[in-house]
Amino acid sequence: MWKGVIEEYRKFLPVSDKTPAVTLKEGNTPLIFACHISSLIGDDIEVYLKYEGLNPSGSFKDRGMTMAISKALEEGSKVVMCASTGNTSASAAAYSAKAGLKCVVLIPEGNIALGKLSQALIHGSKVIAIKGNFDDALELVKEITKKYPITLVNSLNPYRIEGQKTGSFEICDVLGDAPEFHAIPVGNAGNITAYWKGYKEYKAAGISRKLPRMLGFQAEGAAPIVLGHPVKEPKTIATAIKIGNPASWKQAEGARDESNGLIDMVSDDEILAAYKILASKEGVFVEPASATSVAGILKLAKKGFFKNVKGRIVCVLTGHGLKDPERAIASISKPVSLEPKTDAILEEIGL
Ligand SMILES: *Cc1c(COP(=O)(O)O)cnc(C)c1O
Repeated sequence: MWKGVIEEYRKFLPVSDKTPAVTLKEGNTPLIFACHISSLIGDDIEVYLKYEGLNPSGSFKDRGMTMAISKALEEGSKVVMCASTGNTSASAAAYSAKAGLKCVVLIPEGNIALGKLSQALIHGSKVIAIKGNFDDALELVKEITKKYPITLVNSLNPYRIEGQKTGSFEICDVLGDAPEFHAIPVGNAGNITAYWKGYKEYKAAGISRKLPRMLGFQAEGAAPIVLGHPVKEPKTIATAIKIGNPASWKQAEGARDESNGLIDMVSDDEILAAYKILASKEGVFVEPASATSVAGILKLAKKGFFKNVKGRIVCVLTGHGLKDPERAIASISKPVSLEPKTDAILEEIGL
């Protein structure tokens, strides 16, 4: 049985016999060949979807949280705290519940998807909504955790990055090597940092031979790295990446430059189009922010980026579609309502 990312990749992680591994068996998520999307990108391109929505709390944050919470427990911490656009709080809440730690989360009021809020609440976290955005919430959490004996579990916590890098190990394990391209949504930029670190470590260990080009994508209304300056009031329907001043900004630029990659932006319309293609053509339901990686490669393909290019692209799909059911329902026409009569139903389906 799969043992969770700490046990499976122990020798690549800063853990010892004294680390109590708090796990919900995260990781081991499927890498799905995307037949339809591949055909849209190029003749010699294979697109794979790393479906991180199938982690225990429904997002990739669990890979980092198993590490952050295990280390907090090892270090004797009693309370953890995070700022969150939703998924960090859902994950921190679940792993804290398992570990018996108290968890405090700060969220931007009115800007968090319903599924994520329900998770933080049901796992018993102290949830505080602030009248501000994610960047404001993170500043407050940094200030409080610096002064008081509370462990910060945002991706500024280096153990988060360590755990999240296991995503690249799994991709290499399944494909037999790193892909040519790795496409990923960029919000606070911890995940692009983590994946790049993982790819480099696997290559240094001689397990993989290649390094991918890292393709990061932000939402147009929240694209500080693309624009080259912080965005005061970020705007996008992709709430998980609605961030104006990413904590791992420099590391994301490092991943981009060292890998000969790029960080570009996509519009909300492009994100929603990719969101619908994933659900209706590939059978994979993700939250809007997750579709950013696919929206990004579709945009690049339209500009001829993959012309005469051969190889594999892995798109990380960061979170599950059920996190934000309201968005799905708002994006598609409502079901028709009929009398419970056979004739009426047959007529409606054209028989
Ligand atoms: C956290 C998150 C992101 C952004 O990841 P960063 O590490 O902040 O760049 C993207 N999508 C989803 C679903 C997330 O939960």
